[in-house]
Amino acid sequence: MKYTPVQNYINGKFVDPSGSRKIDLISPLDGNLLSTVPLSPAGDLDTAVKAAKAAFPSWSRMPIKERVQVFFRYKTLLERDMKELALLCSEENGKTYNESVAEIEKCIELTEFATSLPQLITGEVLEVSKGVECRTEQVPLGVVASIVPFNFPAMVPNWTIPNALALGNCMILKPSEKVPLSCARLALLLKEAGLPDGVFNIVNGDSEIVNAICDHPGIEAVSFVGSTKVAKIVYQRATQHLKRALALGGAKNHLMVLPDAKTDMTAQNVAASMSGCAGQRCMAASAMVAVGDVDHIIAKICEEVKKIIPGENLGAVINKESQQRIESYITQAEKDGARILVDGRNTVVKGKEKGTYVGPTVIDHVTPDMSVAKEEIFGPVISILRTKTVDEALAIENANPYGNAASVFTQNGGIARYIIDHASAGMIGVNVGVPVPREPFSFGGWNESKFGVGDITGKSSIGFWTKIKKSTTKWNPEAGVNWMS
Ligand code: NAD
Repeated sequence: MKYTPVQNYINGKFVDPSGSRKIDLISPLDGNLLSTVPLSPAGDLDTAVKAAKAAFPSWSRMPIKERVQVFFRYKTLLERDMKELALLCSEENGKTYNESVAEIEKCIELTEFATSLPQLITGEVLEVSKGVECRTEQVPLGVVASIVPFNFPAMVPNWTIPNALALGNCMILKPSEKVPLSCARLALLLKEAGLPDGVFNIVNGDSEIVNAICDHPGIEAVSFVGSTKVAKIVYQRATQHLKRALALGGAKNHLMVLPDAKTDMTAQNVAASMSGCAGQRCMAASAMVAVGDVDHIIAKICEEVKKIIPGENLGAVINKESQQRIESYITQAEKDGARILVDGRNTVVKGKEKGTYVGPTVIDHVTPDMSVAKEEIFGPVISILRTKTVDEALAIENANPYGNAASVFTQNGGIARYIIDHASAGMIGVNVGVPVPREPFSFGGWNESKFGVGDITGKSSIGFWTKIKKSTTKWNPEAGVNWMS
């Protein structure tokens, strides 16, 4: 075993869980045992909440300009440890080293946004009547929780950590039990950056801890990122306990490709979008709607896809179960009559025979009723559906229950605008394969890709992590009453 067993992080210290349930942590890259992960009992959550509650008064009363100093330092520590963090991320998640570097760079960008929060929450003040002022302030909620998925071991935790903490909250983070190592490393960096003990805590575990988070009376707000199935469970359970909740779910993103699209640029973008992070991105292109005759572009996409080599510029999928699930989707599509143009099944990487790889796969002549057209596959697979018109393409996109992202590839501005207006997704790309909004813009889908109000990053997250205090003051010496009295 390469690393010592994973521990919880409570009140600034790594501590053993109180229970004995645990699972092995296997690297998807080569099948090697990395560590063991505790599946903590609910009681460990309570210890973490008590620590966070104790830390809240002094942290929340510290001026925000002082709180963000921690994040200026945290950003430089992320930069300092970039290589080490990227290697760890790659080792536990299976993505390539370069993808992991990009992930840490994104953590830095998210932290930079948090350091700008003092400029964004200055509040409002107005003399609403003679000598009478109304003023608003955005104040922290208290102890909050963040539950995260496996596919971005460092970035998704950093969607919530810098903003929620800089705004004055204390946090319990529940990492994915499939990738807990990066979160533990982030905790050490936060401590080194000067974050007071108890402000940030980690409790490792599975659904038992997630359910306990939703139920715990000491937790004010729950943010969740993961599959739609679990997002629904968490959103319903947390709000049933009268908590504020924001739950981001799965995705099935459509790229619409028109005949006037630039061939090389489109092919490169489609190939990169479907295969980046081995297709395990909620923003990955999963379905391509070919509008009219775009055979020349499909041929070029296949050419590009064949340049993507597992174990070189394509990482592994998270585990054996995922590998089998993805391959069975491809097999089912073949049985249903679709044509496999590039087949990534039965991929073995030499020297890493126990790694869990799926090669990039292009499936053509998919029809809307096939499972590869409807369901989230979460692997390096693109399903091509064919339509005659843009409206037919939009009908396919609109009919999907998800709504994270949609993109169009065209040189026609009018059609691009029409698709922005009519696609039923929260994030739209025009000639962009992965339309992730960069800060200060916020990240969040629609429909079954997100439950709750507002988005999880950028300016929109401020409303989620704070509540508004309104004060009305009158300091004029005149006596007398007016409409307010
Ligand atoms: P997941 O839903 O299986 O797990 C997410 C978290 O929920 C983990 O911490 C896990 O321990 C916990 N969990 C799992 N099952 C649970 C249950 N039954 N009850 C309570 N908690 C449970 O997701 P995953 O497989 O880790 O991540 C992949 C999914 O996340 C994909 O569907 C992907 O699209 C989605 N995702 C969405 C976004 C977004 O922004 N919308 C971003 C990243 C990933």
